[in-house]
Amino acid sequence: MDSRRDELIANLASVEQRIVSACASAGRSREEITLIVITKTYPSSDVELLAELGVTDVGENRHPESGDKHDEVMRSLKWPDLRWHFVGGLQTNKANAVTRYADVIHSVDRLKLVAVLERGAANAGRMVTCLVQVGLSQIDVSQGAGRSGAAAADALTIAEAIEGSEHLTLGGVMAVAPLGADPQAAFDELHEVATAVSQRFPRATTISAGMSDDLEQAIKAGATHLRIGRSVLGERPFLG
Ligand SMILES: *Cc1c(COP(=O)(O)O)cnc(C)c1O
Repeated sequence: MDSRRDELIANLASVEQRIVSACASAGRSREEITLIVITKTYPSSDVELLAELGVTDVGENRHPESGDKHDEVMRSLKWPDLRWHFVGGLQTNKANAVTRYADVIHSVDRLKLVAVLERGAANAGRMVTCLVQVGLSQIDVSQGAGRSGAAAADALTIAEAIEGSEHLTLGGVMAVAPLGADPQAAFDELHEVATAVSQRFPRATTISAGMSDDLEQAIKAGATHLRIGRSVLGERPFLG
């Protein structure tokens, strides 16, 4: 147990160092960046260790596992302010349930989802922050299992629908750099979409971008929220 704690302390310190140095290179302040540790496939005991070590934001990508983990961790009432992010693809029939425990949903990539999330949040009596997930242009859709995300041209329409929903708050935008693509070009493209969204909705300033392998490029392109899994928790035992 203690060795896992030490491992997480060391990994968090090295990620922090990368963030600080990327901020320095980009002429940005560390305070502009929120680290979200993506805990998918790892046990709730890891989430608890992270919270003890000062991590304020954690993310999961699969329902219902994410909800179970949330309940296990939050039951102790030790970290009432821990924020839960949902970053995975959302099936329409599960989206409703995610609004029960997610504080921020990063993966809103179609209009139909907005109505479902609004209903779920209303039923749960909660306000849920939503990000528009943008599919960047280098995605090769013909690859089948391609990453999801709205076309950049549709981002504003989805943003408007979120903003117009009583129980949803528009936070901003999110993207995953396409596999094999130049992450810098992808994140620069996301930044353009983010600019269009925040010009229309000035409070929607979140840019969720950057994972273990590309956080430097994301910070350079204006990311405000990093989603880091492996660099903190270690390689996942299976793809998730
Ligand atoms: C798993 C995942 C991450 C974290 O990726 P790492 O490479 O482990 O840092 C970030 N964003 C999403 C959407 C993910 O599914």
